[in-house]
Amino acid sequence: MAGARFDTLIVGCGTAGAILAARLSEDPGRTVGVVEAGRDYPAIDALPAGVRSHRSSRGLVTSLNDPDILGFPDWGLTVHSNPLQPSVPLPRGKIVGGSSSINGGVFFRTLREDLDEWSLANPDWTYDACLPYFVRLETDHDFDGAYHGAHGPIPVNRAKPDQWVPLNHAFHAACVALGFPNCPDFNAPDAWGVGPVPVFNPTCPNCNCCMTRSACCASRVNRSIRQPRRSGCSRIRASIH
Ligand SMILES: Cc1cc2nc3c(=O)[nH]c(=O)nc-3n(C[C@H](O)[C@H](O)[C@H](O)COP(=O)(O)OP(=O)(O)OC[C@H]3O[C@@H](n4cnc5c(N)ncnc54)[C@H](O)[C@@H]3O)c2cc1C
Repeated sequence: MAGARFDTLIVGCGTAGAILAARLSEDPGRTVGVVEAGRDYPAIDALPAGVRSHRSSRGLVTSLNDPDILGFPDWGLTVHSNPLQPSVPLPRGKIVGGSSSINGGVFFRTLREDLDEWSLANPDWTYDACLPYFVRLETDHDFDGAYHGAHGPIPVNRAKPDQWVPLNHAFHAACVALGFPNCPDFNAPDAWGVGPVPVFNPTCPNCNCCMTRSACCASRVNRSIRQPRRSGCSRIRASIH
């Protein structure tokens, strides 16, 4: 690494950094360096089992208190919200792919009101301006039309009612009885209510940024990944997962 020079140096090859590296390095005239504290695995088969499957022994890794998360390539951070609270684990992925390597795969789009609020500072961030990028990002296996993509790198689906467990059905029925609308597609514009969450692991239970990155640009970016010596709701969503 000593003496290496790059047009762009990205620190952290996580969810955002990996995508940034992939996109910037599409330009053959630009050199991109990536510094990542965690390991880079050469192939999907070489990944730790939990990362490969996105599952701990208790199921999907969506609980911040899941002790199995400790077996993952994690920074080992803890947090407490005030001095009276006990510390709880704050998982953050320490691996190429970052926290997307250990996350739950839930694929919610940002709410319109949040994006429109951001756009007060930068008009490029309105919901309508971001929508084409949401569409471009996905291949939605359940819904099509103007608001959904069919050719993007991230496959998305939702649990079908015949896949729900009895508790899911009971929760859904109770919410509908309380007046929440049935919501089969949370990623439809302005959707709200109760329904299955969209997830990005329908065909590959291990589709994270790490692998998406691997699939789209491994040969290009891998050469530049280096490890440093030391490294140091505005709307209610009731979800079935
Ligand atoms: C357990 C869990 C479940 C989640 N579930 C979901 C979900 O279902 N759906 C969803 O959309 N989001 C989910 N999230 C949130 C989502 O994964 C994160 O918001 C997102 O991955 C953050 O991306 P990032 O690029 O900001 O950081 P990260 O992806 O964490 O990337 C940061 C990278 O920087 C590296 N790094 C840090 N410090 C240094 C250093 N000093 N030198 C070199 N490298 C460094 C890290 O190792 C890491 O690779 C979840 C997160 C966790 C932890």
